[in-house]
Parts: sequence; structure tokens; C-alpha cells
Amino acid sequence: MISKKIVLHFPRQMGDQPIVYKLVKDYDLQFNILKASVTPDEEGLMVLELIGEKENFDKGIKYLESSGVKIQPLSRDIVRNEEKCTHCGVCVPICPTAALYTDEATRKVIFKHEKCIACELCVKICPPRAMEVHF
Ligand code: SF4
Ligand code: SF4
Repeated sequence: MISKKIVLHFPRQMGDQPIVYKLVKDYDLQFNILKASVTPDEEGLMVLELIGEKENFDKGIKYLESSGVKIQPLSRDIVRNEEKCTHCGVCVPICPTAALYTDEATRKVIFKHEKCIACELCVKICPPRAMEVHF
């Protein structure tokens, strides 16, 4: 039995397909949805803990990939370069876990590393490239 946390990126046109249901029914996997959201460009994003026998897990991952779902393991670390961040706030609405939020008193954007799931959405959107992926 293995358990892994993964991020699934769904293309826009797949929003109504029962992908997760098929993982349970056809591959005998259990899951916990840790987070689900739709990003501004309408890509679906789901953070999932998948649990099952390794063979079934591998088959389930292959099924997801063949369906056009992009899979990202949660093995990378996101770090904010404090010297580069201008506190512009662009990253705040797209962060699915509210790891980036605006402090009402100071109007500064706070990064709570412990809430970050390394989905990388802020990395692409940050104008000065302050959010960095560390391997
Ligand atoms: S988008 Fe980048 S520069 Fe703007 S607040 Fe977020 S981390 Fe800072
Ligand atoms: S990678 Fe960025 S957008 Fe994703 S959870 Fe972490 S701080 Fe939020």
C-alpha cells in the first residue's frame, strides 16, 4: 500500500469528466481531496492524496496521463525571494491554499510557507519572478 500527494492540472475542456470516480472504480484507489480550484484561465487544479496498491497506483497515474491530465508530484519547495517581491498582490487571488495573503494592517503580502502545496501557480504569474522553485 502506498500513499502519495499529487497535484492534478485539468485542461479546461475536462472539467465535467468523472476522472476521480474512475480512479476509485477501475483502479481500486482511495483518495482525499486536499484542495480543488479553478484558476483564472479556467484550468482546473486538484491536490489529491492517492492511496492504494502500487500496481493500481501506477495504472491509475497512467490513466490520468492518457486522459490529458498533467500530474505534478509535491516534491518541490517554493521559496520567496524577499529582495525581489514588490508586494504587488498579483499572486494572492490565485494561490489555492491562501499561503499568500495580504496583511490588512501593513498591506504587505505574506507568504506562509507551511501552507504552500508547491502548485507553482504563483511562480508563473509573479511579475518580478520572486517566487522560486527549489529542488
Ligand atoms: S506576485 Fe510576486 S511580487 Fe507580487 S506580491 Fe506576489 S510574490 Fe510578491
Ligand atoms: S506554489 Fe504559490 S500558489 Fe501554489 S500554494 Fe504555494 S504559494 Fe500558493
